[in-house]
Amino acid sequence: MNLKSTFLSLSLLFAANLFAQNREEFIYASMEAKHAQELKLSHSDLIEIIAINNDLASVYIHPEVTHELHQKILSHGPGYMFHATESNALNTINSPLEMSRTVLEYSITNQEYVKTLLDDVNKQNIEEVMQHLESYGSRYHLSAQANEAAEDLKVRWENLIAAANRTEDISVRIVSHVNTPMKSVVLTIKGNENASQYVIVGGHLDSIVGGSNKTYAPGSDDNASGIATITEIIRVLLANDYKPQKTVEFMAYAAEEIGLVGSNEIATQYKNQGKDVFGYVQFDMTAYKGSSKDVYVSIDSFNNNDLNLFLYELMEEYNSFGDHKFTYATTRCNYGCSDHYSWAMKGYPAAFPFEASFNDSNPYIHTTSDTFDKNGDGSHAAKFAKLGLEFVVEAAKRSEVLDVVNLNKTKAKFYVDQKAVGFEVPSNKTIKSATVINVAGQKVATKNQVNNNDKINLNQLPKGAYIILLETTSGEKLTYKFILK
Ligand SMILES: [Zn+2]
Repeated sequence: MNLKSTFLSLSLLFAANLFAQNREEFIYASMEAKHAQELKLSHSDLIEIIAINNDLASVYIHPEVTHELHQKILSHGPGYMFHATESNALNTINSPLEMSRTVLEYSITNQEYVKTLLDDVNKQNIEEVMQHLESYGSRYHLSAQANEAAEDLKVRWENLIAAANRTEDISVRIVSHVNTPMKSVVLTIKGNENASQYVIVGGHLDSIVGGSNKTYAPGSDDNASGIATITEIIRVLLANDYKPQKTVEFMAYAAEEIGLVGSNEIATQYKNQGKDVFGYVQFDMTAYKGSSKDVYVSIDSFNNNDLNLFLYELMEEYNSFGDHKFTYATTRCNYGCSDHYSWAMKGYPAAFPFEASFNDSNPYIHTTSDTFDKNGDGSHAAKFAKLGLEFVVEAAKRSEVLDVVNLNKTKAKFYVDQKAVGFEVPSNKTIKSATVINVAGQKVATKNQVNNNDKINLNQLPKGAYIILLETTSGEKLTYKFILK
């Protein structure tokens, strides 16, 4: 036994004695079964495993032990979901996920308008909001400043609505919660044609640091950056007179860091009210560029493959405009890593594009060093604002704008024939390459010698949704989404 582990054992023993007397502080939670079992081995007095179903466990646990999860597993968020009662904790691991949308429901039809929005994104606005949120000192859910930040964010968003003269169809509400005194903030743009369908973008407003003193938790990247990104998306939409067909909502959640409390209460309410959520995208940490690529889409099993494929398609499509190009790859972030998990658990299609691969993400989070200067500036976050704008407009569409202006469709015809995808491209274009991308963002087939009327054999590929991407010699990209049966 080395010195370090002796010290660790002694301190755990001490902690165990301390916490054994404080069982009233225990909470119900759900987490991955393997993590619950590891914690049980090292802290048997501080966790009780109530039940295990497949890979998930419901547990009764001291909240301080959950901080170990954050370090032990590759997750930037809490790594568990809080539950107010034992039966909620049990229900979560016992109810199977049911997905409600298919890949073909998502389409890209607003290229010219979205291009205008992308031109309008301003990284300085993002920087200003990030620095303002950091100035509260702490947004820990039990601190007074957390609710000050929520009330002030409501005013900031209301000012954007007033400036755009849109108080008729856009409003902001404060949401109170049962399991935290902190409040969430929700902005709603009422849909003009299909108001009962929701397109939602969210991120958490609270912050946290490890240890008992939570009075300074700057939370610049985690997650002032996400809230600043969302605020810039709202600003750009309103400045460009955006009126959606579906209802669009932006959410800034309370108490994500203590087990996704705010988002779980809201998603549960939406599910209980039978609300139809067409797509959910989470922005949590957008400012720190830790990896070589720009956007890392998480591909954990609970994320929606069809929605992820739509994000790749959006990036391919809008990257072809050149000016706002960014690169992307995929990563995994594990159980309960952010608020999108709350929506996924209710069967809603949820996606989480992240600032880096999880191995390379911001090393300062959950410490007093998660400050603005570690992020450089707002330029990385601005890419996420652009992706958010692409997602909102193409998912919620535009009111009173005919849905026929798909430039791609006029440039090429695509079809699926058995286990092959074919295309016909006008003779004034020369195709340089054809690539097929799967739901994990992997290029699963590439052909470099391509004719304008060609077919790519996909016999080797499993059933599922794919995108084919044609690149012309002039750099133009033509995409088509399809399902192999
Ligand atoms: Zn976070």
